[in-house]
Amino acid sequence: MSEALPVVRLKRGRYKSVLSRHPWIFSGSISSVHGSPVPGAVVDVHDQEGGFLARGYYNPHSQITVRILTWNESEPIDRDFWRRRLQASIARRGPLLESTETTAYRLAFAESDGLPGLIVDRYGEWVVLQSLTYGIEPWKTTLADLLVELTHARGVYERSDVDVRGQERLEPVTGDLAGERVAERVIVSENGLRFQVDIAGGHKTGFYLDQRDNRRKIAPYCADRRVLNVFSYTGAFAVYAARAGAAAVTNVDSSYDALVAGEENLRLNGLEREVDEHIQGDAFQVLRGLRDEGRRFDLVILDPPKFAYNKSQVTAATRGYKDINMLGMQLLEPGGILCTFSCSGLISEDLFQKVLFGASVDVGRDVRILERLAQGTDHPVLLTFPEAAYLKGFICQVE
Ligand code: SAH
Repeated sequence: MSEALPVVRLKRGRYKSVLSRHPWIFSGSISSVHGSPVPGAVVDVHDQEGGFLARGYYNPHSQITVRILTWNESEPIDRDFWRRRLQASIARRGPLLESTETTAYRLAFAESDGLPGLIVDRYGEWVVLQSLTYGIEPWKTTLADLLVELTHARGVYERSDVDVRGQERLEPVTGDLAGERVAERVIVSENGLRFQVDIAGGHKTGFYLDQRDNRRKIAPYCADRRVLNVFSYTGAFAVYAARAGAAAVTNVDSSYDALVAGEENLRLNGLEREVDEHIQGDAFQVLRGLRDEGRRFDLVILDPPKFAYNKSQVTAATRGYKDINMLGMQLLEPGGILCTFSCSGLISEDLFQKVLFGASVDVGRDVRILERLAQGTDHPVLLTFPEAAYLKGFICQVE
């Protein structure tokens, strides 16, 4: 069957990353294309001698022209292929699958799970599929059917409305893909807490699943503390803090709807109180205002959106991280705890630590790292694809 596939031939000297099993082939590595593959088609990748290197899907519109699906010449890309990959990916979630405490998590994390361009999240009885690339598009219905079969989900909803699709020349697409029509509001559990999720309209696929383990790790620091939760979205960190016995929680976000959902999530867990605050506004301005009013907190969480989408934005992003972290440090009582994150893949943990160092020097506070944090276990990092590591964070004590 492989001789029927179109062929992408690599330039001599560009085989190394394929041989070391990196799943991306950039346009600059390709010497020629044979057999007129359409965008999204499955192609074989050959060396200059016509030897097989890998098989993947093709998109001439993308800088990442081929994403590799297999290095095995005798493995066809068919329904069975996707079934095996999905099944293995789901099985990799291990104990989460059996948990009643946690019913929302990522079932497939794209390249890291051998499923390039495909994200699958579970929210209770529902599954959300996100296609990031042309190569996933022709398989969406097959994938949705397989997901119903493998997870017994009531329905599969598509949330392919992320900006990166633009780099593939794909339009945003959302809607029901398989099974029943998705519920508007879904209640999920995370570490025994309840959260309402808006599958059709929320950020990402509805919830920031990648922070689950970090919410649990930060909770014990929150007892009896005044907690400032900045970039709160639907207030998940605040719900954990309240359960852990925080003296008060203050959510800050630019989105009114997210703040309202944040109050709702506290209520859903019987944790709402008069002392809690929900402040809408630009975090940089709000924090400056609080600082200048002399407000102080015992624990500050900073979980900003991605600041760097490409290399040219890294310098501006580091300035943004430095500013917000200086404000966070200034708002803390001596001995307070700063929990700070960066989800920009282009900012390494090392660089982020340097930014925090710069911030600490400028505000004249000694800052000690107590714990290093990363994305949850359902967002694994395949060693041949280090690009998958994007979320990093620190729990620090600020003197
Ligand atoms: N901590 C959250 C996720 C945060 S996502 C959680 O655990 O679920 C980032 C959030 O920052 C989004 O809710 C977005 O609305 C908000 N945001 C983006 N830019 C902002 C700004 N300049 N000021 C305040 N909030 C902002």
